[in-house]
Amino acid sequence: MAPRFHDLKVTSIERQTPEAVAIAFEIPADQVEAFAFTPGQYLTLATEIDGKEARRSYSICSAPGDPYLRVGVKKVADGRFSTFVNDVLSVGDTIRVMPPQGRFTALKGERHDYLLFAAGSGITPMLSIARTVLAHEPDSTITLVYGNRSTETIMFLEELNDLKDRYMGRFTLIHLLSRETQDVDILNGRIELRASANSPMAASSSPPPWMACSCAAPAR
Ligand SMILES: Cc1cc2nc3c(=O)[nH]c(=O)nc-3n(C[C@H](O)[C@H](O)[C@H](O)COP(=O)(O)OP(=O)(O)OC[C@H]3O[C@@H](n4cnc5c(N)ncnc54)[C@H](O)[C@@H]3O)c2cc1C
Repeated sequence: MAPRFHDLKVTSIERQTPEAVAIAFEIPADQVEAFAFTPGQYLTLATEIDGKEARRSYSICSAPGDPYLRVGVKKVADGRFSTFVNDVLSVGDTIRVMPPQGRFTALKGERHDYLLFAAGSGITPMLSIARTVLAHEPDSTITLVYGNRSTETIMFLEELNDLKDRYMGRFTLIHLLSRETQDVDILNGRIELRASANSPMAASSSPPPWMACSCAAPAR
């Protein structure tokens, strides 16, 4: 059966940065199965904006087992949907949501050292993946390289810091900032992935095992 939209109620809207919010939906008991997801999947949201239907995809940033389903939406300049979500949508509103889709996931369910890259709102699937791995793969480690313009624009900063405190030794968080100077020079600038001729990445036809996944939205 083709996936169909369900009406879900917005139960919370948390401002993450001046340009981004996290919104959580309530999942009615009879729809829990339809909204079961694998970390890395996304939701398609739909609503009417100025009398016209708009649909956009947003990666799930909660983890399976959380009592809510949550996405993070960063406002894009002159963007219809992201501006609506950031400036108009309110707690208690209903929005149409399609069940989770997508095959971007890297979970192995056994011991692995994961290296994750994210920039800006690209953190959303990584947060879900990191939280799930840390909770369910007790011997796995995560290194997350997260690029942003400045500290003020870092989404989910508090939550990431909590993970660092909670999983000390298994979760390494590296912030790269493109428009704020940090003491360590190598942490200034944008994420650039380069593979030299003799690097493990260049040598393999598929990503090496430590390269669990990567995702980037440009931090301008
Ligand atoms: C699988 C997937 C997961 C995603 N996950 C996330 C996520 O977790 N968080 C997140 O914030 N985003 C995510 N996105 C991006 C998201 O779906 C939207 O694309 C984003 O929010 C912008 O939508 P918008 O309606 O605000 O912008 P749009 O209205 O679609 O506009 C986008 C840009 O195009 C410009 N534009 C629009 N129309 C024109 C035109 N006619 N001529 C010239 N320029 C124009 C706008 O000015 C704007 O800069 C994801 C996308 C995908 C595909």
